Amino acid sequence: MDVEFRETGIYLPEIELWLDNTDPCAATWISHGHSDHASGCHGTVLGTSITLEIYRMRLWKSEDAAEPELRAIEFGQSIEWNGARLTAYPAGHILGAAQLLLEYRGERLVYTGDIKLRRPLCGEITQPIACDRLIIESTFGLPIYKLLDREAAVEQILAFARECLDEGIVPVFIGYPLGRGQEIVHVLCQAGIPTAVHGAIAKFIPVYQDNGYEFDGWEPYDARAIQGKALVVIPAHGNVLEASGKNIRIAYVSGWAALDNARTRSGAEHLIPYSDHADFDELLALVDRSSAKHVDVVHGYTVPFAKILQRRGMSAAAPQRTTAQTSVEAEG
Ligand SMILES: [Zn+2]
Repeated sequence: MDVEFRETGIYLPEIELWLDNTDPCAATWISHGHSDHASGCHGTVLGTSITLEIYRMRLWKSEDAAEPELRAIEFGQSIEWNGARLTAYPAGHILGAAQLLLEYRGERLVYTGDIKLRRPLCGEITQPIACDRLIIESTFGLPIYKLLDREAAVEQILAFARECLDEGIVPVFIGYPLGRGQEIVHVLCQAGIPTAVHGAIAKFIPVYQDNGYEFDGWEPYDARAIQGKALVVIPAHGNVLEASGKNIRIAYVSGWAALDNARTRSGAEHLIPYSDHADFDELLALVDRSSAKHVDVVHGYTVPFAKILQRRGMSAAAPQRTTAQTSVEAEG
């Protein structure tokens, strides 16, 4: 199957379908709800129903935007598309995130989108998919990135919260608006810790609740009433709190927290290296378990990760986008 790596997404000309195109187009698959994937007003949008719901929440600000045709493909389900068979599988990255298997003229191509292999705090477990050609991300595609599994992440999140609260200090967790933020709130609520949540994160809590995750006892963040609670805020607000001189301690929950310099990057005292992306070993496992004959590496450490795969005897490439890559939402 022909695959064109363009600036705003990946294009499959034979079946007239884009993958994660952020510019308006006739038809695109959207792998998950982060804004560097779920963006643009398109004619037809394919994705899991959870991703389509998040896409609607993100995009329907403009009343004059024409409503696209939304076609849900749930995990394990297939649809026919211009002579190809498309099947969605869990990607574990955030709620609703999916890999897409495209079968066309005897070839099996898998596009992972953003992916993690270990079980996430919220969401489905990833299934590696056997294929001929794999298009995979490599946000943490260097051996220096070794990240926590969910059990260790829960332990560290709760230990930090309890230790701070016992000392009369307000624990602040920096998470991202969609994915990590809700996961941290869910963990704190499950443990019965009073938790106040920044609006940008709280906005997506109903999507998680609708899919069976409990958030009992959370409340909207109010800067005037933070004592005795854990706070979950977005990175920009973490900086505001840090500068406020309040009696707080900040924890940064991110794959980037695997490196000590994340302290200066985030302003956090405490680093918890847990991510919604695969770490290096998980990426290698995903590649190995796909049995792909060729691997294209997109996003992140594309060139070094492709070279690492080549040294392991694989056919791998870090395709150049046809024009400069666009900036992406900070996540990890
Ligand atoms: Zn993402």
